[in-house]
Amino acid sequence: MTELEAFRAEVAAWLEDNRPPPDPGFLLPESFMEVGTDDQFNYLRDWQQRVFEAGYLGMAWPKEYGGGGQPQVYQDIVNAEMARLQVPFVPNTIGLNWAGPLILAIGTEAEKHKYIRRILSAEDIWCQGFSEPNSGSDLAAASTTAVRDGDEYVLNGSKIWTSLGGYAKYMILLAKTNPDAENRYAGLSYFLAPMDVPGIEVQPIRKLTGEYGFTQTFFTDARVPASCLMGKEGEGWRIAMQTLTFERGATGGQAGGLAGNAMGVADVIELARRGKRDGKPAIEDPLVRDRLVQFLIEEQGDRLCGARARIPALVSERPAAIPMSGKLRGTEHRRRLFQFALSLMGANGIRWVGDAHADRGGLWPRSYFNAFSATIGGGTSQVQANIVGERVLGLPKD
Ligand SMILES: Cc1cc2nc3c(=O)[nH]c(=O)nc-3n(C[C@H](O)[C@H](O)[C@H](O)COP(=O)(O)OP(=O)(O)OC[C@H]3O[C@@H](n4cnc5c(N)ncnc54)[C@H](O)[C@@H]3O)c2cc1C
Repeated sequence: MTELEAFRAEVAAWLEDNRPPPDPGFLLPESFMEVGTDDQFNYLRDWQQRVFEAGYLGMAWPKEYGGGGQPQVYQDIVNAEMARLQVPFVPNTIGLNWAGPLILAIGTEAEKHKYIRRILSAEDIWCQGFSEPNSGSDLAAASTTAVRDGDEYVLNGSKIWTSLGGYAKYMILLAKTNPDAENRYAGLSYFLAPMDVPGIEVQPIRKLTGEYGFTQTFFTDARVPASCLMGKEGEGWRIAMQTLTFERGATGGQAGGLAGNAMGVADVIELARRGKRDGKPAIEDPLVRDRLVQFLIEEQGDRLCGARARIPALVSERPAAIPMSGKLRGTEHRRRLFQFALSLMGANGIRWVGDAHADRGGLWPRSYFNAFSATIGGGTSQVQANIVGERVLGLPKD
């Protein structure tokens, strides 16, 4: 057995021995975007703490800030085992996957020491304040203001769709510091803002599924220390774009772990085995088989593309192509997959969570609705398609 194989076996054994009870007596959310009750949050935060203490999170992050200082391959193995064994996800997704890597890439020593370990241990939950009621895709239109006043900035305005907003201690925040800048990009600045100061209020937003995963965040003369500014005033747009490369998976450096526990192609195949079409198992229908094979091909293609993207010699001609298209491919694949699952179920597909007769406790329609989340959050599919068209394929803007 090689060293890596031995490590894989050790991780699998630890996960099996330490995973929390799969049925804690309340419904578990599918991803960090649906964590809406204290029970859910505490269950997931405890789990993240245990994973971190076992040394299985941030394994490739520098040791001096709380990481493991090991080669990335170890974290890749942990991530793969977590997905294979379907252990719960770790909830501090924004901290682990975009704020953390960003701070490690461009933060000061003080910022790295202050934030990184507590992101890994889930002591500090992070959220993201980019979208506003009047600016989502058009992020540069952000109008929340940050006005310097001595050693503080005074924040006014509102952010919306703030995932984990109700539990976060810090927000990565894009705000306008200079309304008279030569262009709207130059007027923006980036903050690592505390959420627990007077004048910041969060109001939960109920999703289509009835779950509460995000908030609207209001700033009313909220004062944050001037030291929260990341980089310099006016650098907000550049830093926000760098954040999005982590969020959309175009840049590596994430701490690892799972960000969700949604069902996958294997579950849909199993559904097709159980479901009936014209009195026979649905999986015997050639049209159903054809669709399932297409989904399997896409899933396998995605996995192999991910592996290929990590080998520079294979992607030297278009290094950005796979990472930039990954979010678009992956999220649209899931949305179509659940739509297909519901079509297999016929009228039973509308049986919702709590219905005693619902297949898998009614999780299918919930997964279908939630599958739209990732096609919107972090940039909509239309916007992603524009990015791939313009920046990868070199198509004209119009
Ligand atoms: C589950 C979920 C979680 C989220 N979490 C967060 C979070 O934590 N923090 C945060 O800041 N935001 C978050 N968001 C917000 C998300 O980033 C925005 O919803 C998204 O960027 C789209 O912005 P919008 O909703 O204002 O839609 P709009 O920008 O108004 O878009 C409306 C429609 O127009 C299309 N469109 C817009 N511009 C173009 C264009 N140039 N070309 C083609 N089509 C276009 C869009 O694709 C969309 O279909 C979350 C969203 C969801 C659904």
